[in-house]
Amino acid sequence: LVNCPFGAPQDTVDSVDAVIAKLKDSRATVVGVIAPAVRVAIGEEFGLEPGTLATEKLYGAMQQAGFKIFDNNFAADQCIMEEGSELIAKIRHFALGEPAHGHLLGPLPQFTSCCPAWVRHAELSYPDILPHLSSAKSPQQMAGALAKTYGANTVFRVSPENMYVVGVMPCTAKKFEASRPEFGSAALYWRKQGATGNYPDVDTVITTRDLARLLKKMNISLATAPGVADADNPLARYSGAGTIFGNTGGVMEAALRTAYFVITGRELATLEFTPVRGLKGVKEASVAMKDVKTGREIVLKVAVVHGIKENLAPVVAAVAAGTSPYHFIEVMNCPGGCVNGGGQPINPMGTSWIDKFKVVLPWA
Ligand code: SF4
Repeated sequence: LVNCPFGAPQDTVDSVDAVIAKLKDSRATVVGVIAPAVRVAIGEEFGLEPGTLATEKLYGAMQQAGFKIFDNNFAADQCIMEEGSELIAKIRHFALGEPAHGHLLGPLPQFTSCCPAWVRHAELSYPDILPHLSSAKSPQQMAGALAKTYGANTVFRVSPENMYVVGVMPCTAKKFEASRPEFGSAALYWRKQGATGNYPDVDTVITTRDLARLLKKMNISLATAPGVADADNPLARYSGAGTIFGNTGGVMEAALRTAYFVITGRELATLEFTPVRGLKGVKEASVAMKDVKTGREIVLKVAVVHGIKENLAPVVAAVAAGTSPYHFIEVMNCPGGCVNGGGQPINPMGTSWIDKFKVVLPWA
């Protein structure tokens, strides 16, 4: 059990043994919600080349352990539809001067809200800018609510009270996020149908390293696990937009594809929106759009921030001062985004990297 090297808030509960106990409990349906960044990292823990995409082996190993699969890429797709729709409504009203339709949830620029370390940092350090954060909850929390409503009803066909939803995340802060008391919307939904249960949407969270430990404790090797596509599972289907959530700039790129299509009526000529890719601390981009409804034109300006310790303060200060040039800002706590999260395997750059950081990371 470790601290996040990038200062994300965390829960110190190690739930590996609790998850194993649930997997062995015949009354429980244990659903593993697999984040995009886990599949390219966990192979390292089983001797595969770092960066190996191991989605099907991961499904196979987790099914051997007794998990039902909920691919969080599916929920990331839902997240981008929610967050993108919110952004489009604000652009249409505030930037294109159209009448407000329905419920406008906050001012521009809109910040992303899927990184719980960023959200907590904003709550503690920048409470005045909270109205700028998207109202969409993170893919993990959307997945938990979906698993215990739609999933319970039509995919897993079990009572939500007998489901145990486990976030499998690259992130220590996701443990903290799942424990927040506001994330109980599935139980609320069922109480409105007459049920009486009270439970969280996501019961517990394990990191990539935790999952490797869990599989090893159960004598399951990812390297030799059978590849499983889980093609019949609607909760394991997703687009490329959901997949790139794991990388800095990925949420922005996915949102821009959707916003561009809805506002202009056309797909982006090139789906890879390269200006928001790469490892520069603050990345900026702009994209010209013509509103298909009114013919008005807008140049949408966006920024992507990762590594909030080093790069965030000036971007937030401009928003607070009302001088920010952007319409949409993605913020991820960890340098590089979730693929480099605090729960990922430790040695991505080899022994010298570990030695270098031993002083500040006693667990390395
Ligand atoms: Fe967690 Fe990703 Fe945020 Fe890092 S960037 S704290 S891994 S959600």
